[in-house]
Amino acid sequence: MKNFEPKTTKTKKGTWTVFLGLCKGCGICLVKCPVKALIFGKEKGVVGQSAPKVIPEKCNLCQTCEINCPDVAIRVDKND
Ligand code: SF4
Ligand code: SF4
Repeated sequence: MKNFEPKTTKTKKGTWTVFLGLCKGCGICLVKCPVKALIFGKEKGVVGQSAPKVIPEKCNLCQTCEINCPDVAIRVDKND
């Protein structure tokens, strides 16, 4: 199995994680993010499409991407 583990990025107020083994690279999260904090990165998802990565200084951890991903491939965790 190659690179299908979760990829977590630290932001100022928490973490943003994409599960490459679930992401199909549909791009819905990029479209839905209200502050354009997501771009397609070098990592590939489960069907070989590019997976999203977060721009940590832009992400405000609003969870819109997590809620709208049809494949439950994003997790957003806020610090306590
Ligand atoms: S919405 Fe989900 S499946 Fe689609 S690109 Fe984003 S993380 Fe991947
Ligand atoms: S948590 Fe909100 S701001 Fe951060 S990438 Fe997802 S939709 Fe964008």
